[in-house]
Amino acid sequence: MFDLRDPMVPAVARVIRSRHETADVWTLDLELVDAVWPGFSPGQFNMLSVFGVGEAPISFSGEPTDNAHIVHTVRAVGPVSKALCHLKVGDTVGVRGPFGNAWPMDHARGRDVIVVAGGLGLAPVRPVLYRLMADRRSHGRVTLLYGARNPGEILYRHEIEKWRTRLDIDVEVTVDHATADWRGHVGVVTKLIGRARFDPADAVAIVCGPEVMMRFAAKALADSGIPEKEIYLSMERNMKCGIGLCGHCQLGPLFICRDGPVFTQDRLRTLMATKEL
Ligand SMILES: Cc1cc2nc3c(=O)[nH]c(=O)nc-3n(C[C@H](O)[C@H](O)[C@H](O)COP(=O)(O)OP(=O)(O)OC[C@H]3O[C@@H](n4cnc5c(N)ncnc54)[C@H](O)[C@@H]3O)c2cc1C
Repeated sequence: MFDLRDPMVPAVARVIRSRHETADVWTLDLELVDAVWPGFSPGQFNMLSVFGVGEAPISFSGEPTDNAHIVHTVRAVGPVSKALCHLKVGDTVGVRGPFGNAWPMDHARGRDVIVVAGGLGLAPVRPVLYRLMADRRSHGRVTLLYGARNPGEILYRHEIEKWRTRLDIDVEVTVDHATADWRGHVGVVTKLIGRARFDPADAVAIVCGPEVMMRFAAKALADSGIPEKEIYLSMERNMKCGIGLCGHCQLGPLFICRDGPVFTQDRLRTLMATKEL
């Protein structure tokens, strides 16, 4: 049996399912070939490698209680991600992980939770939503605000429709550019924050998406009264080792791969305001 404890040595996993989500996004279900998957916490990531091409950090997007499958949603942007997206059932990949810290699931117990996601940012927060829905009674109001560029780029469309039918979670979806058959909101996702129902004094916000979207969302959430230390964001930086050794993703005193990728807005604001970091 392969020993997963050496974080620099990839285990081999086989693709058991591949789903085409949107024009350039695929979801892969993987199964380790000769190792036991230890599980992950929502917010963590794997370093996935395509042999002969390279390696890239990819967040978990699946059900956190499912230890049989490792699920990742990938957008084809460059050599590694394109090779991952083009994998077929039966192909093998390298897996190192799980790495990084997690979204504040325990801290969110008993509080209102507002999840704000943009584009592919819905993938790393999907495990959060699964966890919140499975443990619904342990939280106050739960809200998902999701924005995509256009209706064709909405991820997990069928699942979102199912979530919408639940009476115990508010789901709002908006697009930047509508098509003729779109009946939902139009505009940036931050516009929805003002209408969401939550008690800012007792809420936790979870934000994931492009950096510019997260900046505006964090500001809108703070303006609505949520303290910056209760606003959590996931930072994406190019990384190599994934375990805080190489310094590739260093941000001041922090390594995004080891100390993150999840940080609170108060911590990030201080770092981002420092010149030459
Ligand atoms: C913690 C973490 C989690 C991630 N989770 C996911 C995920 O779930 N799904 C997914 O599709 N992608 C995710 N990414 C981004 C993914 O790792 C990059 O898109 C990937 O490394 C690109 O590799 P490539 O060889 O395909 O393209 P490259 O040739 O490396 O890059 C193609 C283009 O994308 C830019 N780029 C590459 N990586 C990043 C990055 N991290 N942030 C901003 N721009 C970048 C490059 O500058 C270049 O313009 C995550 C990144 C991090 C750090």
